[in-house]
Amino acid sequence: MDVQLEKPLPLPTPVTRPFWEGLAEGCIRIQHCLDCGGWVFYPRSHCSHCLSERLEWREVSGAATLYTFTITRQPTAPFFADEVPQRLAVVELAEGVRMTSTLVNVADADIRVGMRLRPVFDRVSADVTMLRFAPA
Ligand SMILES: [Zn+2]
Repeated sequence: MDVQLEKPLPLPTPVTRPFWEGLAEGCIRIQHCLDCGGWVFYPRSHCSHCLSERLEWREVSGAATLYTFTITRQPTAPFFADEVPQRLAVVELAEGVRMTSTLVNVADADIRVGMRLRPVFDRVSADVTMLRFAPA
């Protein structure tokens, strides 16, 4: 019997919804603190630098560098069996926040820590767009 597993997808919450809506529109929005000027990611109800609740969403370019990565040759979960090898990455945006993502459009041998990256908006369903990164 062929069992088709549905991949888990993000479920926006009131706090994270602006981030996901931005991706669906083809832009990256992250939180910026009106009190200390710090950038905040992942989305939260308060600033991770000064605990202020005065955060606003700002659009950023998505220019990033590769902070670290690993290549998984075994599925990390049954849902991802069709995606191996996965190029799992932690990328650092120009604003200094880091996010976990996957690299696309790059050969394994060309991946280097510190390489410049650009965002790729991957529409995986009618409602969800995932943020991936490719060489700049
Ligand atoms: Zn702050």
